[in-house]
This record gives sequence, structure tokens and C-alpha cells, in this order.
Amino acid sequence: MKNTSILGLTISELSEICKKHKANSFVAEQIASWLYKKKVYDFDAMSNLSKNFREQLKSDFPIILKPYSNLQISQDGTKKYLFEYSENRVVETAVIPENDRITVCVSSQAGCRFGCAFCATGKIGYKGNLSAGEILNQLAAIDEFDKITNIVFMGMGEPLDNWEEVYKAIEILTESWGYDMSPTRITVSTIGLIEKIKELIEKTKVNIAISLHSPFADERKFIMPVQNASPVDAVLKVIREANFPRHRKFSLEYILIKDLNMSKSHAAKLAEIAMFNKARINLIPFNANSELNFKTPSYSEVVKFQNEISKKGANVTLRKSRGLDIKAACGTLSANK
Ligand code: SAH
Ligand code: SF4
Repeated sequence: MKNTSILGLTISELSEICKKHKANSFVAEQIASWLYKKKVYDFDAMSNLSKNFREQLKSDFPIILKPYSNLQISQDGTKKYLFEYSENRVVETAVIPENDRITVCVSSQAGCRFGCAFCATGKIGYKGNLSAGEILNQLAAIDEFDKITNIVFMGMGEPLDNWEEVYKAIEILTESWGYDMSPTRITVSTIGLIEKIKELIEKTKVNIAISLHSPFADERKFIMPVQNASPVDAVLKVIREANFPRHRKFSLEYILIKDLNMSKSHAAKLAEIAMFNKARINLIPFNANSELNFKTPSYSEVVKFQNEISKKGANVTLRKSRGLDIKAACGTLSANK
């Protein structure tokens, strides 16, 4: 097993371990309950497991939880945690408090191979995948763990490029033997990989956000090379045909880049795409990061663009930038210590 932590194992993987050590299969449920419900990370405290089995588990899984190695706190209360999983695989996790919500923005990969022109994570390139355990560890090892209300896969990496591990993490988060969290409180943000989008729709019930960023194919190719291999039209068609239940949120994310994608014709086409696909539009003013040359629009330009879209009848919201001073905002995560 490539994962050295027991946190991140599904009930069937735990059952296999029980089988290997000749323990009863119901013991898998007991271990899952210690890990995911009681949040106990010390085998000695797992009192209903035999002493012998506890010793075996201890030697198989020396570390259950990996602590964070750095924490930064923004003036606006946003926090950014650093996890060093291996020399190459260093990731960041953002925690965004707002009113009575605490949203955690988790990473799914160290770096990212897709090279979107506006994104700091894309600039560092691909450094490696995270295991399901390493994804969940970003939740379990932070100070806010017991207060998390929402989880968004919007940190470093492309979740569908590490689908197996992301799926396992979602399974553990939402199944009754796991954290038993409602899938309506989890959102996966993706640039839309055609070969995996169907599985995300069919195998989970989480909310889906597609990173669109331009309503025009040629322009999207220019800022998002993935458009060549996985045209967003085809991805949206798969989603349309899946016929989402109403409670499952579906949104299009749209970064606002001054002098690039904010004209009247952009607004009109974007609204048309959103309405045709029954999606909500989430506008994200471009977060400047030192290496990238795009410009952030002024607040009045943002409002004007938002009004253009509303006028066409589409449902549009504006995402506030949070944690910019500590580079915890969308697209600024680069895991520089
Ligand atoms: N790879 C996935 C998820 C991680 S990025 C994706 O791209 O969807 C999470 C969100 O941050 C995406 O909507 C992404 O487009 C956005 N983002 C990236 N760079 C940004 C920047 N410089 N300013 C604002 N948002 C950015
Ligand atoms: Fe990767 Fe998403 Fe950044 Fe594009 S925006 S480079 S897919 S993390």
C-alpha cells in the first residue's frame, strides 16, 4: 500500500487489513469509527481492539496524523496551513471564516500540470499527487477541524487529474461509516477533464464548479491549454445530459481579468452559456501574483460586468478575495515557505 497512514483508508481497505491480521470483519467498522467519528489517532486508545492487533497496526502505520509545519494568518482572518508530505510534495490549505461558516480549501495535488496562464500553482508545474489520506489530513490536522462547515477542492492541483484519491477522500467524507458529512457542503472545482467528469457526476453527490474563464473557445485555449485536449463544450454537454437534481449546485467560475475577458460580448455569451446549462456564475476578480502579467479590474468594472450578466437573466455571484496578504487567495497558492 503506497499510503503509510491509516487515515484515508476506506471501509473495504480496512476490511482487507483485518483479514490480513485475521481479525473479524466488523473490526473494520470499529477502526473507521475511531478514526472518522471519534477522531482518535492513538492506537492504544482504541480500546475495543485486541492488544495484539493494536500492536500490529502500530507497526504497519507508525504515523496516523501529520502535523502542519507552518501557519500564516491574514488580516481578514483567513488562515493558510503548510503541509510537507515529502520533499517534493509540499501543499497549502486555506481556511476561510465567514459569518457562521468555516470553509476549508483543500489541495489535491502538489503543483499542477495544466499551466493555466493566470494561476500561480500552474507556474510551479506538477510535483506529485496526494493520497486520500494526505487530502483528509489537511482537514484532520488543522485547528478548526471540529468547526468546518464547507469543503472546497480549490487549493493546489486539479482534482480530476488525481481522481482515484479524490474520490476516496470524498467517499470517506460522506459515507455513514466515515465522517458522514452532507455532500451538499462539498464542492469540487475543475477545469473539466472529459474522461473523468462523468464519474464525478455519477459516483458522488458533491457540488460541481467548472472553471470557464472565457466563453470563447479560442480565447480559452490561450489562457487554459486544457481547452485543446478537453473542450469545455463537451464537458458541459455531459453535465447537461446528467440532469442534475436541484439541490446539487452547479456553477461556472469566471476569473475577471482586466482588458481580457470583461467586454459586453463576453458578458452576453457567458450569460447565455450559464442559462443554457442551468448554472450559476461565480465571478472571481483576478488575484494578482507576482509572476503573472494579468491585471485586476477595479471594483466598478467588476460591478458593471456583473450587471451586464444579470440584465441577460443569468444568476451571478461575486466571490470576495480573501487572504491576499498571505497568498492564500484562489490562484495564489504556490507553497513557498
Ligand atoms: N484546478 C482546479 C481547482 C483549483 S484552482 C480549477 O482550476 O478549477 C481553484 C480556483 O481558483 C479556480 O476557479 C481557478 O480558476 C481559480 N484561480 C486560479 N488562479 C487564479 C487567480 N490568479 N485569481 C483568481 N482565481 C484564480
Ligand atoms: Fe491547475 Fe486549476 Fe491552476 Fe489551472 S487553475 S493551473 S487547473 S490549479
